[in-house]
This record gives sequence, C-alpha cells and structure tokens, in this order.
Amino acid sequence: MSAPPAIVERGSAWDELLAALRARLSSATKLTEGELLGPKTTMRVGGPARVYAEPATEADLQVLLAESSARGLRVFMLGRGSNLLVPDEGVDGLVVSLAHAAWQTFEPRADGRVWAGAGLRLKNLCGLAAKAGLEGFEFMEGIPATVGGALRMNAGAMGGWTFDVVEEVHLLTLAGEKRVMRKAEMHVDYRHCAELATAVALGAFLRPKAHTDTAAVKLQIEEYAAKRQKSQPREPSAGCIFKNPPGTSAGRVIDECGLKGERVGGAEVSPVHANFIVNRGDATCADILELVRRLRVRVKAARGIDLEPEVMLFGRDWREVL
Ligand SMILES: Cc1cc2nc3c(=O)[nH]c(=O)nc-3n(C[C@H](O)[C@H](O)[C@H](O)COP(=O)(O)OP(=O)(O)OC[C@H]3O[C@@H](n4cnc5c(N)ncnc54)[C@H](O)[C@@H]3O)c2cc1C
Repeated sequence: MSAPPAIVERGSAWDELLAALRARLSSATKLTEGELLGPKTTMRVGGPARVYAEPATEADLQVLLAESSARGLRVFMLGRGSNLLVPDEGVDGLVVSLAHAAWQTFEPRADGRVWAGAGLRLKNLCGLAAKAGLEGFEFMEGIPATVGGALRMNAGAMGGWTFDVVEEVHLLTLAGEKRVMRKAEMHVDYRHCAELATAVALGAFLRPKAHTDTAAVKLQIEEYAAKRQKSQPREPSAGCIFKNPPGTSAGRVIDECGLKGERVGGAEVSPVHANFIVNRGDATCADILELVRRLRVRVKAARGIDLEPEVMLFGRDWREVL
C-alpha cells in the first residue's frame, strides 16, 4: 500500500487552528476539513483542502487570517477557480472562498462609482451594470471570474483590463488588517496585481465610463459573447494556460508547432484554441502538468520561446514541477 498523502496527517498546529476557529467564528461561516476543491474549479481536477472556509462576515474573515497567520499556517484564496489547477494531492493550507452572499454586493453610489464585492461574479456584474445603464464593464462578459480573482489577475479581454475601471481596492493583509488602496498606489501589470499576491481583496470601487441606455450596453455584451463562443472550447478548462510571449500569442505559437490535439490521459490541447488545455472528462492534474511540460519543451525546441504558465498551480509553485 502506498503511503497516505501528507494532507491526511494531522499536525497539532492544524488541530489548534480548528479549535480556535470553532470557538471564534460565527455559526453562519462554513468551516470544513478535506473539502474537495476540483468541483469548485472550472478545470474540475484536484484533491481536497486541509481546511476550507466560507466566511459570512468581514470579522470572521479577519479571524481566519489572524489565527492562521499567528500559527504560521498558509492561507490560499479561492475565487471562481477559473484560473487554477488544483494538485491531485490537494492543498495543504486553509483555503478561503468568498462564496457567501455577503460578498456578492453591487451598489451604485451617488458619486457615480459602483461598489463591487469580491465574491461577485463578473457575469452578474455585467448584467447588473447593463440593467443600471452603466457602460464600461462589457469586456468582462464571459470571463468566468469573481471580482476578487479578476483584481488579483488584472483579468482582461477585448482590449480592456480590470484595473481600467478600478478606482480603489479594499483589502485585508494576511494578518487580518484592513487597508484601502487607490489604483495609483498599486503595482498592476499583465495578469498580475502585486499587492493582492499577499492580501485578500474584499471588493473595489469601480468607475463606469458613462451612463447610457441598457439596450446599448446589452448589445455590446452580446457581441463580445458571440465572439467568445466562436473562438473558445466548451469543455472544462482554466482558460489560457500560458501567458502570451512578447510580440506574439501563445496559442498561435503552439498551433504553429502542430500541437493542437496533443493529449496526455484525459488532458488535451484544444483543437479550437491551442492555448486552452481541456479536460476530456477524466483528466487528472498530473495529466495536465505532463502536457504543460511537453508543450514547453516542444515550443522551446522549435521556436526558442519559454512559455510561462498564466494559470496558477494552487498551493504550489510552478518552478517545483516544471
Ligand atoms: C473559459 C475561460 C475563459 C477565460 N477567459 C479569460 C479572459 O478572457 N481574460 C482573462 O484575463 N482571463 C480569462 N480566464 C481566466 C480566469 O477567468 C481569470 O484569470 C480570472 O481572473 C480568475 O478569477 P477567479 O475568481 O476564477 O479566481 P481563481 O481562479 O479562483 O484565483 C485566481 C487567483 O486569484 C486569487 N484570488 C481569488 N480571489 C481573491 C481575493 N478575493 N483576494 C486576493 N486574491 C484572490 C487566487 O488565490 C489565485 O491566486 C478564463 C478562464 C476560463 C475557464
């Protein structure tokens, strides 16, 4: 019999953490051990979280962060799981999701700004903005993210980036301290926001481009949705697997190397879009990692390009596996 995965062993620090959390969290906050993460991601692979929580209030989120940080235990934020690969052995940490309704607020304010909670799905943000006749968020249509994940990744599409519409981000440090940061104070780049790599976004004040009529906003959203439907696969995926290298697109390079349809187990390079690895139904994380390694080797040999993953390896560093 093979050794049980490390995650099953119960370190005393984890037992202490669970006892402290059970004593301090409100009953509305979900707290579990061994929660399966694969079903909470769009790629649908991967094992359990050592500890998993869905805080119902900011105070409970602060407790989760402060108690973990005091014991030196690692915390990982989970958004919609649309840019994550969860390892088959799971995540040895506290995984926190802002899935509770309390984090899904969309509040237009008198000063023209909109407050968007970090747990709000971009699809709902687009729909609510259209209903309110607010223009400027249409590019987010079809990015299957939460606001928190979109801020962390500076997600973008159709020529727009998340931080184009951000004015101010409210966040908690990993020790549970509250901060408010203006966009100008933050270090934001292609698929990256440095401050949120070590903090939890609670939500953001967004600035619409203009007030207009609902029909015009909806029309633009429909145009973008149609474009996406034509160019992206329908099977489970984590979106673009690699960042675009300077001056070209990763999908084009992979396609030119003849790698569309390349397969390891249940993981396949999509014949529709070469920068998507899709789960044909029975893929494991190990299959996907092997395919990522193969693509990198073949592209490097043929074109001299080092492809860098855009997708996050949840709870681990890509450098450990590439
Ligand atoms: C079909 C498909 C299409 C896609 N199209 C696009 C696209 O057009 N453009 C694009 O940019 N991306 C695209 N993606 C990728 C993905 O949707 C984005 O990267 C998105 O921003 C991830 O958001 P999420 O809520 O799913 O975050 P997750 O995938 O859950 O997490 C991503 C990162 O954000 C962190 N995080 C999550 N919530 C918080 C928080 N509250 N505070 C701090 N950190 C947090 C996580 O720890 C992780 O590091 C696509 C993915 C799929 C599956």
